[in-house]
Amino acid sequence: MLKPRPGGGATPKEGNTMKNVKAGHAKPIVCLDAGHYGKYNRSPVVPAYYESVMNWALHNYLARELEARGIQVKKTRTTQAKDLELNARGKASAGCDLFISIHSNACDTESVDRPVAIYLVDDNCGAIDEQSRQVAALLAETVREIMQTNDPAKTYSKLASGDRDGDGKKNDDYYGVLYGCHQVGTAGIILEHSFHTNTRAAKWLMQDANLQALAKAEAATIAAWFDLDHAGSEKPAEPAPAPEKAPVKLDPAKSFHKYKAGVYKVQSSDGCLNLRAGAAADKQLIETMANGTKVRCYGYYTDAWLYVVSASGKAGFCHSAYLKKQ
Ligand SMILES: [Zn+2]
Repeated sequence: MLKPRPGGGATPKEGNTMKNVKAGHAKPIVCLDAGHYGKYNRSPVVPAYYESVMNWALHNYLARELEARGIQVKKTRTTQAKDLELNARGKASAGCDLFISIHSNACDTESVDRPVAIYLVDDNCGAIDEQSRQVAALLAETVREIMQTNDPAKTYSKLASGDRDGDGKKNDDYYGVLYGCHQVGTAGIILEHSFHTNTRAAKWLMQDANLQALAKAEAATIAAWFDLDHAGSEKPAEPAPAPEKAPVKLDPAKSFHKYKAGVYKVQSSDGCLNLRAGAAADKQLIETMANGTKVRCYGYYTDAWLYVVSASGKAGFCHSAYLKKQ
């Protein structure tokens, strides 16, 4: 459940409709952590695969995609060859709006093929716990969609068994990078891109084009979570803007709920559904989509209208009565 958090740290700047961004930030800042260094965590089923190599490549692609969307990126590592302590990597996110540690997972059962996202333990001290839970759900679902994993995505948080910070409360994160994030007040997740103990997943992750597709989709999810589509100047520049048409001005979505996020299919008795610039039938028409067309919602909505991105990449509102969740 989304709990309201009094006094949560992330208040958008005046005149700025971005969400989940700390006060004073002109643009969101994301800290990316390549999960391992050197040649580490070799796949037992696809010997050419090393988790560390994938982590490094994907975090670089993701950095590029985030920057293209006007998001500032900080990286925990300056070189792939050198290790950096877990807690220090989490703490490197100080002053950032989001921390993501990039991994693939391993287990004893070869058939396991699912994304896993681990979010901060809820210590009731601010907005970052809920924020990290939201991002975990959204990104795990994005990874599932792009990787087409056999098993559904899983998200969880894990408490340390002891009292790591010695404040008398057993509310510290088990994972070192997340513990570091918590200490410096950054929403953070560990994102496992399925399991490299699974042959299909490991082979998939060895394709460079697949990593680039993942990076694009993850960057889009992150940008939507920051609500950058609504934040005027933060909107990424399109490569070739059509000069004859004024850009569509979208209304901002009023609400967010992670359970609204997902892929939907158009299913209307008219055989089609309109994508509009706002949550009403008289709002500007952006696109008409045939039955069976898929759209993606990142959890944002206004009343009965979902804020979605269409198959052709256009953002807008669709009435939820004509959308069937996949
Ligand atoms: Zn790992």
